[in-house]
Amino acid sequence: MSRMPSPLTGAFPSYRPRRLRFSETLRRMLSETRLHPDQLVLPLFVRPGRKVRNTVPSMPGVFQLSIDEAVREAAAAQNAGVLAVILFGIPSKKDTRASGSYAKNGIVQKAVRQLKRDVPGLQVITDVCLCEYMSHGHCGLVKKRGKVAMIDNDSSLKLLARTAVSHAEAGADVVAPSDMMDGRVAIIRAALDSAGLSETPIMSYAVKFASAYYGPFRDAAESAPQFGDRRSYQMNTANAAEAIREVALDLKEGADIVMVKPALAYLDILHRVKTEFGYPTAAYAVSGEYSMIQSAAKFGWMDERAVTMESLLSMRRAGADIIITYSATKAAGWLQER
Ligand SMILES: [Zn+2]
Repeated sequence: MSRMPSPLTGAFPSYRPRRLRFSETLRRMLSETRLHPDQLVLPLFVRPGRKVRNTVPSMPGVFQLSIDEAVREAAAAQNAGVLAVILFGIPSKKDTRASGSYAKNGIVQKAVRQLKRDVPGLQVITDVCLCEYMSHGHCGLVKKRGKVAMIDNDSSLKLLARTAVSHAEAGADVVAPSDMMDGRVAIIRAALDSAGLSETPIMSYAVKFASAYYGPFRDAAESAPQFGDRRSYQMNTANAAEAIREVALDLKEGADIVMVKPALAYLDILHRVKTEFGYPTAAYAVSGEYSMIQSAAKFGWMDERAVTMESLLSMRRAGADIIITYSATKAAGWLQER
C-alpha cells in the first residue's frame, strides 16, 4: 500500500488522466493495488460424520462438511491457488462448559490432523471460540449476577487458552481467537509458550463488531445465542477510536496478525489499523457480505464475479494483507484465468 502523497502538479490540457486509461495493458501495469490467490483464506465448517455436505440455505455454495468432504474442499481451494483455510467446528454435543472446544478428539482437532495429513502444504488456521460448543451459544462462560446472566470474562480465558493449545497440539499452523474477551491474547500466548508452542502465531480478531452482517454465519455454524446478544463483548459499530485501542492491546499482548471483522462496512477501520500500526492485517469478508452478493447475482441484479472482485480489491486497497472470504476458491480461480 502506497503512503506517498500525490500532489497534483499537472493541469489540463497538458495533463490528461485519461491518457493512462485507454489501453488495457497500461491500466494493468499501473494498478496500484493487486489481488493474488496467496492473500485469500477459505473458511470451512466441519461437522461429524462421513460424506456429509449440508447446504447452508442463506449462503449458496457454502456447506457444513464432514472431515472427508472438508479435505476435498480444501484440496480444491489449494488447486485454485489458495494457501490457507480457517476452521469452524460444529460439535455433536454442546454444553455449558464448551467441552467440545478443547477435547483432544474434538471436531476441529480431528479435522486439523486430517487436513495436515491429506493436504500437504495447506496452512490450517483455527477459529478459537466457545460459542459453537456452548448450549447457550455465547462466546464465554455465563455467570448469574443477581437475576441477570452475564458473560464472564476472566473465567472464560482459561477455556480459550485450553482450546488454542489443543488446536496447536493437533497441528494448527495459526490460532485465531474470535471471542472478544479482554486479555485473551496474553493468556493464549502464555499457554502456547508453556506448552512448547512458542512458534505458533496468533491471528487475533482484534476488532470484531457486534454486526448484523453475521446473520447467515449463525445458520452455518449453528451458533446463534439462545438469549440476549453479543453486544456486551463485541464492539459497538459506531466506534473507531476504540477499535484502535483494541488493536494496540492485542499487539501488546502478543498478537502476530490483527483482524478487522466485518470488512466492507469497516474499510475506514481497516485503513486506520494498517496505517497506524503497520502490522500484518487481515480482513474478514463475512457471511452477510457474501450472501448479499449471492442473492443479488441470483436475481441477475449484479454480476457476481465483478462485484466479488471489486469488493476484495477494496479490502486490499484499504490495507488488508490477507482476506478471509467464502469466495476464496472462486476468486482464486478467476485470478488464474486472467
Ligand atoms: Zn464466538
